[in-house]
Amino acid sequence: MLRRLKWGDAVIIAAVLLGAAALAVVLAVQTAGDRLYAEVWRGSELIERVALTDTTEQTIEVDGHNTVILSGKTARMAQADCHDQVCVRTGTLTHAGQVAVCLPNKMIVKLVGASSEVDVIVS
Ligand SMILES: [Zn+2]
Repeated sequence: MLRRLKWGDAVIIAAVLLGAAALAVVLAVQTAGDRLYAEVWRGSELIERVALTDTTEQTIEVDGHNTVILSGKTARMAQADCHDQVCVRTGTLTHAGQVAVCLPNKMIVKLVGASSEVDVIVS
């Protein structure tokens, strides 16, 4: 009985590990899948979406309140006139899924991977 339990446990552990490994591979493929976009949102409105490459150099000013700097495959809130400066202190975003939020100005800068939205391949 004890052996059976152990064997069963081993099977479960193996299954979990396999699942985790598969997930890791999927994630690696998705993130290594090259394309990265910086999105600038004001409220629920997407006001700018830029494909980031190694040579990207772009400054985006939003209503004179926030300045977003895109440099290579990174984005950061360089300047903001909000009181808390949380967005500026968030620092540089380097990976898909990272977000800099400016609550007072209802602004969001985020990095997204291409795999999360297929419809942007329209050129
Ligand atoms: Zn802010």
